[in-house]
Amino acid sequence: MPLRKLLEKIRIVLIHTSHPGNIGAAARAMKTMGLSDLCLVNPKSFPDEQANVMASSAEDVLAHAQVVDTLEEAIADCHWVFGSSARHQRSLAWSLLEPRDCAQESIRIISQQGGQQGNLQGKVALVFGRESSGLTNEELALCNQLVHIPTNPDYSSLNIASAVQILAYECRLAARDWMALDKSVLEDSTSELVNAAELEAYLNHLEKAMVRSGFLDPEKPRHLMARLCRLYGRLGMTRSELKLLRGMLVAFEKC
Ligand code: SAH
Repeated sequence: MPLRKLLEKIRIVLIHTSHPGNIGAAARAMKTMGLSDLCLVNPKSFPDEQANVMASSAEDVLAHAQVVDTLEEAIADCHWVFGSSARHQRSLAWSLLEPRDCAQESIRIISQQGGQQGNLQGKVALVFGRESSGLTNEELALCNQLVHIPTNPDYSSLNIASAVQILAYECRLAARDWMALDKSVLEDSTSELVNAAELEAYLNHLEKAMVRSGFLDPEKPRHLMARLCRLYGRLGMTRSELKLLRGMLVAFEKC
């Protein structure tokens, strides 16, 4: 299987990028490492001549870029979502990865979804925030894990395209190493992970059930849904496990 097949399953998502030149530079960073799936959430200006100039010979990545309104749409078919954050600490206890581990984990998830037939189905999103303010708490809540590029603690904010470059480079190395691996050791890891849309549908169902039961007071939500979203996101559930949870929920609702 060519390296390209693995790398095309990694989606780079840029949220509300304000400088079109950064979109072009990110596209170039992706193409140099063999990534091709770019999704722009509500960019300030796109298409834009400055993006083309900075993309140089990676204009094809821009030409195929999807433009969507929300992060939910950008990640709906993804099985795992990494949020890239310039900040070290957040109010909720995040599991924070370094780029190398994030890339290895991404390749593992992508290859796991294909089963023994080797036809890769898994998709991973790497999400990058606004130049001015990064990712909002609502956006972070949609991510399964956070990745932080270790930097000078006194100045930790990279240009967004530089951050894309570092993660894309690590993804290339991880994909290369995976190709060299003896695949027989992976043969029992064929269970399919749920994607973001399936998890969201479950959480909507759970939220309604919690409101109905009085456990969740919509007037005083106490960040309950964000906390549950993080908890379930961390699990890396398979489809059959999610089916089990949904079945339980339906049964409890009948009581
Ligand atoms: N001022 C913003 C930084 C935005 S930089 C803030 O405080 O969050 C734009 C984006 O580049 C970030 O949202 C993040 O996705 C990425 N980025 C920049 N530096 C990074 C780092 N050290 N580690 C991981 N991602 C980084």
